Amino acid sequence: MLILGISGPLFSGRHTAAKFLIDTFNFTEISLENLQTPFPYRDGHKYYLVLITSESDFAILNKYTFSYLIWIEAPTSIRFRRYKRINKTATLDDFLDLDEKIDAMLQYQAKSVIMNTKALADLARSLNRLDLLSRDLNRPTPDEYFLRISEIAAKRTNCMKQAVGAVVVKNGRLMSTGYNGTPFGAKNCNAGGCKRCNSLASEGTRLDECCCLHGELSAILMASDTDGGTLYTTLFPCLNCTKNLIHTGFKRVVYSKEYSAKDSIRLLNAIGIRADQVKPYQEKIIYPI
Ligand SMILES: [Zn+2]
Ligand SMILES: [Zn+2]
Repeated sequence: MLILGISGPLFSGRHTAAKFLIDTFNFTEISLENLQTPFPYRDGHKYYLVLITSESDFAILNKYTFSYLIWIEAPTSIRFRRYKRINKTATLDDFLDLDEKIDAMLQYQAKSVIMNTKALADLARSLNRLDLLSRDLNRPTPDEYFLRISEIAAKRTNCMKQAVGAVVVKNGRLMSTGYNGTPFGAKNCNAGGCKRCNSLASEGTRLDECCCLHGELSAILMASDTDGGTLYTTLFPCLNCTKNLIHTGFKRVVYSKEYSAKDSIRLLNAIGIRADQVKPYQEKIIYPI
């Protein structure tokens, strides 16, 4: 289920984008009035779109959980040229007067901005990259869901050098969360508790002097049962965390950021533990390529 709001300034290509989505992906166009009555479901249709031109339009759309606003954008010079093709005698001032009627502040409400500066084929490619049909834009996949929780955990770090969060999941259930920092009861790293982290040691060096526990190990130690589980972590695990996760029976690792740890990869491969990279956040601004 998706209710896609399409907005953008004049001649940015809003209508062209809507037509493309209707023709190519079988989107059903609905009106704002439709959104103020019981939702007009059409049998077999999951994807709807509506043109949005003001904050009050957006307020109506935004009441729906599964709404998603995109903003189609192009520089004024390009949009004016497009306008001139239809209104040959029009001046730039005429165009700007009309353009002011579209609420430009709406772009800050958009979850994705598509730069439509080239040909129709480029706009179509950009819309394709939004991946509208293969996933629920507002509803994370289970992997994204747990990775996002580990990103929140990372924000609780007290380490001066790095923020890493991790969660342990078994049979789809969250078993524990963890983040990096000094052990319970010890002085926090960001209060001077770890000399190594406070002395600007470069990544991966002098680890034997480090008082900080890694986020992954912290989550592993807090879980009552890890056997057959999945470890979600914001950073690919170091060798020490890898040894620990193998020894505690994990079957899968999901991470978002790369970390050069060839020994970890080798060990995970040797044991047959899958490591999948998932990037939970899609790009906000999509440029034509
Ligand atoms: Zn630290
Ligand atoms: Zn580690």
